[in-house]
Amino acid sequence: MKIVCYECGKEQKDGNFVYRCSCGGLLEVIHDFTGLDAEKLKRLFAQRLSERMSVYASGVWSYKELIHPELAESDIVTKYEGNTGLYRSEQIRSALGIRELWLKAQSENPSGSFKDNGMTVAISHGRALGFERFTCTSTGNTSSSLAMYAALAEKEAIALVPRKQISLNKVLQTLAYGAKVIGFDGTYDDGIRFYERYGRELGVYICNSINPFRIEGQKSIVYEMAQSLNWELPDWIVIPGGALSNVTALGKGLQDMLELGFIRRMPKVAVVQAEGASPFHMMMSQGKRNLEPVERPSTIASAMNIGNPPSWSKARDFLSRTGGETCSVTDEEIMEAKALVDRSGIGCEPASAATVAGVWKLIAEKKIGAEESVACILTGNLLKDTDVLREYLLKDGRAQMLAADLTVESLERLIRGS
Ligand SMILES: *Cc1c(COP(=O)(O)O)cnc(C)c1O
Ligand SMILES: [Zn+2]
Repeated sequence: MKIVCYECGKEQKDGNFVYRCSCGGLLEVIHDFTGLDAEKLKRLFAQRLSERMSVYASGVWSYKELIHPELAESDIVTKYEGNTGLYRSEQIRSALGIRELWLKAQSENPSGSFKDNGMTVAISHGRALGFERFTCTSTGNTSSSLAMYAALAEKEAIALVPRKQISLNKVLQTLAYGAKVIGFDGTYDDGIRFYERYGRELGVYICNSINPFRIEGQKSIVYEMAQSLNWELPDWIVIPGGALSNVTALGKGLQDMLELGFIRRMPKVAVVQAEGASPFHMMMSQGKRNLEPVERPSTIASAMNIGNPPSWSKARDFLSRTGGETCSVTDEEIMEAKALVDRSGIGCEPASAATVAGVWKLIAEKKIGAEESVACILTGNLLKDTDVLREYLLKDGRAQMLAADLTVESLERLIRGS
């Protein structure tokens, strides 16, 4: 296993952990998979589905050979993350008018978002390096996940969060796990810029997605999806894009599986951004090579409220190489799709619902064909943003709590809706 610069290829020394190469490029973990046998590994991964208590009961560490083969089991901090449901919903499928639809509910992770898939690896790696303080800048889900794992590992967690446009639920969750939460005036992008420059000086281990071990862990989402589908993936995988770490991990995981012979065909990937925070979609749809940051990103989907996504060049290269697509959706479209996902019984937070809204749009734009099969990655839990939920449900009377005296007559009236 090596850590190399994604842009110039220079190898970095792990013990001296940095987050960017001297050329400014992001780092990447490169594995040596020679000697790994796909059939043997598939059998091993299948056996691990019956694990209950060892680290291999985790939906991330069950693929340890492809994620962090060198890490000692005793350094692993896990909460049996991953192992999330892959659902079908006839309601959503028919509303979209697509042949086949899958929903991968990363919202079922222990802290309520896919950030756990990556965080378990970052925290474990940092602990193995001897760090005591773990930090991130976050719109809320990364900090919740960080705080949860740091608490499990009995380490200190510090979260830098923008004061505006984030979900109170996520901040409270982070505080509840015992983290120090520091609010600042600025955006997620300002926080990242700060840590890239001063993180080392502060002696903290940074758990943002500029940390390449987060990406390694997040690859497990697509490994797990492939394993659930007997290593036959759908035509399209649709994913929301904020910092673009998840699509980067998706691409890397798919590449691993193709190289190893787990899958025979590369599915196409579509990235969906919110209209008010869509620098990646703008770059890709205009055929540009470089990302122009959005200065004041704004969307109801707080997890995607990012104007300068760090992983853009990795995401660009993957989509360009594999014929992927991007699109942007409005906040209204996101909320409409969210209502559909919530009513299906699966439920998700706004950023996740952007995938379903995106499928709608990509079918209308004839980029996804109605005869194709699609999997959407639902990234976060329904309860992650109750302010947005309250606003949406109660404001226009879409749903409301009814009141009645406890008599048969008044209940009958309400139950029958007359
Ligand atoms: C972090 C997050 C995203 C965005 O993922 P990136 O890797 O930043 O692109 C989307 N949805 C939810 C719920 C998230 O927590
Ligand atoms: Zn470099």
